[in-house]
Amino acid sequence: MLSDQFGYLEFPSAKWAPSNQQRLSFFMGRLHACDLDYDEVIAQFRSGSVVRPAVVRKKKTLYFFFDPKKLLLSHIHKKCLAQKKPFFVDYPFIYDQTSAETHFMILQMLSAFQKWSQDSSGLSYPEWPQDLSLLSILKLLIGCGLPAMELGIFTGPWPKRAKSLVCLSHDVDDRVGYDNMEMLLNVERGFGYRATYNIPGMRYEVDMGYLKSLEEEGFEIGIHGYKHRSETPFLEPEVIDARLKESMERFKGLKIQGYRSPALRRTERLLSGLEKYFQYDSSVPDTENHTQSRDFNGCSIPYPFFVGSLLEIPITVPQDGVLMALKYSPEKILETWKTKILSLKDQGALIVLNTHPDPVFSGKPAMARIYGELLKFISRDRELHVSTLGELNGWVRKKCSVRSSSSSPSRPVQKAA
Ligand SMILES: [Zn+2]
Repeated sequence: MLSDQFGYLEFPSAKWAPSNQQRLSFFMGRLHACDLDYDEVIAQFRSGSVVRPAVVRKKKTLYFFFDPKKLLLSHIHKKCLAQKKPFFVDYPFIYDQTSAETHFMILQMLSAFQKWSQDSSGLSYPEWPQDLSLLSILKLLIGCGLPAMELGIFTGPWPKRAKSLVCLSHDVDDRVGYDNMEMLLNVERGFGYRATYNIPGMRYEVDMGYLKSLEEEGFEIGIHGYKHRSETPFLEPEVIDARLKESMERFKGLKIQGYRSPALRRTERLLSGLEKYFQYDSSVPDTENHTQSRDFNGCSIPYPFFVGSLLEIPITVPQDGVLMALKYSPEKILETWKTKILSLKDQGALIVLNTHPDPVFSGKPAMARIYGELLKFISRDRELHVSTLGELNGWVRKKCSVRSSSSSPSRPVQKAA
């Protein structure tokens, strides 16, 4: 038995996994010894010089020497939600008294440091900008006949028989971004697309008539935290509830369904608080390792999944701010977006992009131009369909009857035919 040993899960055969090169960097915990004569190793655990079978095939039966359902569910329900509180969260005035440009400079420095430390350790997880590790496990389970919905994961079908669904979303962090929303709205209107705009509950004044008119046009408004200071997920449950209630009352009259946490900071406590007011949350990236000061910044699953009654809709395309913090040019950002989108489409996965209309991010001509280029690229692909996050939420709920059973993992799979 290997206890809490860090290593990789490799897939020597490409039959089940999206790629035989894919590694699952993970603390495997309890890997049971293989005491079986088998025909083929499907997955093996490697840690330094130790290599042990993790999944084997004997005739038509697969044998797992770990619990794949427990591994998947503990990651998407616990590990990827358990973030540490950053020190500056205790000093909200620092955030309020500094400009968006200063926040961006700090993001650039943190990203550079984080990238350097992960590159030198070689132990970052999930891999970036794409991580197929848990998807390999999921595909293995689906191949064994387990419906993904038994794990609370929705893998399709998508509306209009599309191969992949695209959701365009925006976080409107500051008032300057709100004043600048028309720049990206007009790009979307040009293609007949409708997107989701997430606005902080109490950070700046808004014109409710304007937001209502956007809803009438088919755009969606969501809530983006309270004052955009990132501390809400770490507060006591009663305070979280009071803030969510106040934000919802302020936007009364709009069809609010969803929430996105500022800087994608999240805790299990926040997600359980959201269940009372929202149908979905979209605060978890599939992988986004360069902007946070800990591992596991990502669910590694490019599909929506239930956490209790809440539908979690992961952001699966690198955010504008992340790529700009890594000093990518607009052209390189466009190429990164296209590459990731094509790869997600190969998996029939969900494509969720988040950009910011704030002038420090996508709210400037060079970035609005490549956003238009991206929408042109999407519009030419007949296998893609575009919807808002709210429409996706409605679609998933219509398609599946399972709502909340996913929070209690069902019996472990030891073997499957
Ligand atoms: Zn934000």
